[in-house]
Amino acid sequence: MRVALLADVHANLPALEAVLRDVGGRGVDAILHAGDIVGYNPYPDEVISSFQTQGIVSILGNHDRAVLSGDTSWFNSVAADAIDWTRERISEEGMAYLRGLVAQERRSVGGKTVLMVHGSPRDDNEYIYESEVTEELLKGLEAEVLVLGHTHVPFVLPRPPILVVNPGSVGQPRDGDPRASWALLETDGSRATPRRVPYPVGKTAEAIRSAGLPEFLAERLSLGL
Ligand code: ZN
Repeated sequence: MRVALLADVHANLPALEAVLRDVGGRGVDAILHAGDIVGYNPYPDEVISSFQTQGIVSILGNHDRAVLSGDTSWFNSVAADAIDWTRERISEEGMAYLRGLVAQERRSVGGKTVLMVHGSPRDDNEYIYESEVTEELLKGLEAEVLVLGHTHVPFVLPRPPILVVNPGSVGQPRDGDPRASWALLETDGSRATPRRVPYPVGKTAEAIRSAGLPEFLAERLSLGL
């Protein structure tokens, strides 16, 4: 079976649409998303509708959680401004969708157990880069594939018997490459391939500016950081 792994769409509809077009040609059986549907970018309701119509299975990220609670105490000011902006504009249907999400999800696909977490298995706000995947982190997970998000930096790391994948960020890549990021998981043999997809960055940047969101959020998209 083939599974599209996504993370950190962050309300960037043009990026999500480009990724879904790329996913569409590859015969995937499921699309999984490791959290942070909203925050930073100006299309929260449009992205949530797309998740619903495409049947994308998502967990709750720390930005999604902040939109629900209004607690931005641990965010920088730019991220906090975007959370406040989202809370003022998101529809009641959008909020209801976010309320229905859980922090971690275990799915059986193609005979493999895929565990999705946002930051790490112990904390949705912990940043796990490739060099920080330790034996301790993977102990007792009872999964063949661990999917992480949160850092917005992609990696694929085989640590038999577990394959660890961060698909990178669809809506706000931070590895210096502004193209949207996702990963194609093939459950036979447990392989994952990172993918990059160009999208109209200028369209999202312009929408950020007309929405009155912080200018830095528009600038960082074209730099990929
Ligand atoms: Zn994020």
